Amino acid sequence: MIPLVKVGLPDKEILMPQLEKVLYSGMIGEGEAVYEFERCFQNQFDVKNSIAMSSGTAALHSSLILSGVKPGDEVITTSMTAEPTNIAILQVGAIPVFADVDVTSGNLNPSSIENKITSKTKAIIVVHYAGIPVRLNEISEISKCHNISLIEDCAHSLGAKYAGKGIGNVGDFAIFSFQAIKHMTTVDGGFLSFKDESLLREAKKFRWFGLEKGVPRTEVDITSVGYKYNMHNVAATIGLSQLDTIDNKIAKHIDNGRYFDKEISAISGLEVPTFDADAEPSYWLYTVFSDDSDNIEKCLNDVGVQASKLHRPNHYHSIFKQYAGDLPQLDKYYKKMVHVPCGWWVDAETRESIVDALKKG
Ligand SMILES: *Cc1c(COP(=O)(O)O)cnc(C)c1O
Repeated sequence: MIPLVKVGLPDKEILMPQLEKVLYSGMIGEGEAVYEFERCFQNQFDVKNSIAMSSGTAALHSSLILSGVKPGDEVITTSMTAEPTNIAILQVGAIPVFADVDVTSGNLNPSSIENKITSKTKAIIVVHYAGIPVRLNEISEISKCHNISLIEDCAHSLGAKYAGKGIGNVGDFAIFSFQAIKHMTTVDGGFLSFKDESLLREAKKFRWFGLEKGVPRTEVDITSVGYKYNMHNVAATIGLSQLDTIDNKIAKHIDNGRYFDKEISAISGLEVPTFDADAEPSYWLYTVFSDDSDNIEKCLNDVGVQASKLHRPNHYHSIFKQYAGDLPQLDKYYKKMVHVPCGWWVDAETRESIVDALKKG
């Protein structure tokens, strides 16, 4: 089976000596490898003020706290995402307010976001779902106009661009995930970036129990709660090694995505996502729309290609049901959509066989 998602690690001959070195270096916690990874990731992905973290969820939690979201505040969000996006909102005691999506992309619709704003709204989380950037021009205008923090969940969209810049440069915060099956993995890990550079000290303290690193332990003073959200040198060593090959891998996702955009949109009865002229997706997954999405799953499975909806709209979960309003466009989107593999492991022959199978339907 050609899988929908796949763990990608550097070649054994390259990674193992580096791992062995760090594991027996006596310095496996947060240290120089983490800071080196931070500098390299920032350069490579056009990310400015930022820190490495233990996970994307840790970065989301931090972004909400640093946005000043308090218990009882409202956070406008999408239901069409992996669960951590919305679990993080519950972790800070806030109320997730689900806005509706564009049926053509599964991404949050700007007018729906605007309609959900109240005096209690403190943040908007957008997810560049499956690697397709949301309508950032319009959404950032709304967040600025209402003075509400905009958080970009870039867990699916490493390597995507918007208006010519790396994804994550428009909102007040952006988070990335290096969990097992994302574009790039450090086994587990994440990254938090923020527009306001004065947040750096607070972000670092929040990452480490509220303690400031560098101040002698006998003098340091904790004034607010932090978490143990740091990345360690072992994960950072894997990350540094990944950075050597990740551009190539992402280029393959993008090349396959563009091929499907062209080939699948030409098949009658099928549709493909649409996006802003300013958006350059990084196609973590490819999305196909059909009135019979179950049949697409089946016909691809028959030729050895995994296809599925992968995620469950979060408002279907018991824990989110009380916040679920009407999301008619999302319901339509979810019924018609199915994800098809388009990552670096999909070669020319495989992508042709996917298109052929879809043509035969
Ligand atoms: C994976 C993922 C996260 C969480 O990242 P972790 O590193 O697993 O904590 C958050 N949001 C989305 C959309 C994700 O896919």
